[in-house]
Amino acid sequence: MLRLHELTMRFGALNAVDGVSLSVGEGERRALIGPNGAGKSTLFAMIAGALRPSGGTIEFDGQDVTGLPEHRRARRGIARTFQHSSLFAGLSCAENVALAVRARRGLGMRAWLGSGRNMDIKREVTGYLDLMELSEERPAGALSHGEARRLEVAMALAQQPRLLLLDEPAAGMSSAESARFAELIQNLDTTLLIVEHDLDVVFAVASHVTVLASGKVIADGSPAEIKASAEVERVYLGT
Ligand code: ADP
Ligand code: MG
Repeated sequence: MLRLHELTMRFGALNAVDGVSLSVGEGERRALIGPNGAGKSTLFAMIAGALRPSGGTIEFDGQDVTGLPEHRRARRGIARTFQHSSLFAGLSCAENVALAVRARRGLGMRAWLGSGRNMDIKREVTGYLDLMELSEERPAGALSHGEARRLEVAMALAQQPRLLLLDEPAAGMSSAESARFAELIQNLDTTLLIVEHDLDVVFAVASHVTVLASGKVIADGSPAEIKASAEVERVYLGT
């Protein structure tokens, strides 16, 4: 579904992403792990279309999308959440998700208040909130940190992505919250590319794991292979 070929991002003298080649098949849940500054978020930004690569290509569904702007990639089915909150605090969870549904359907924001009367949209909204175990009426501004992160995922799901990019979705969650979150994520039927520091979440969720360090892929394999890799241990523990 997704094929990166020699993808590179230079910031001045720094090769933040340095010749990364990587494939993600339909239905995979691939985790991208690596130390801070490894280039994970930069790679995501290039896949989503927010950053133009300095070199290399991105293929999605067999087509070269390297030059496509972000909104056109979103239309083709690439969605991502952000590391920082992008919610409307004064709106309820349902209203926030309804905005995302309406945006996907090309409906104007002006009429969003009417969404309560539109049973079709309401049903869809309820579905995403249920998947993320959120209640409809809570204002987004009153959510705990973990709930807000789940709402961001619900809004990304409202785009009905074929490929969902999650950048550290469990950051700041308690260990109980992140364990439950991992279960919710596992139940999604979307192809997933997830950056996550919490290795418990990674190994609970991922079908495949890619390890990035200094902009390069240093290991790639099943969760079991990555767990057993001496190279990965060296990068993480500095031994
Ligand atoms: P990660 O998400 O793995 O922690 P990032 O992709 O955020 O890493 O960053 C990779 C490297 O690129 C870091 O050294 C970071 O400082 C640098 N970097 C990221 N974005 C920019 C930017 N817009 N301009 C200059 N340097 C950047
Ligand atoms: Mg990052």
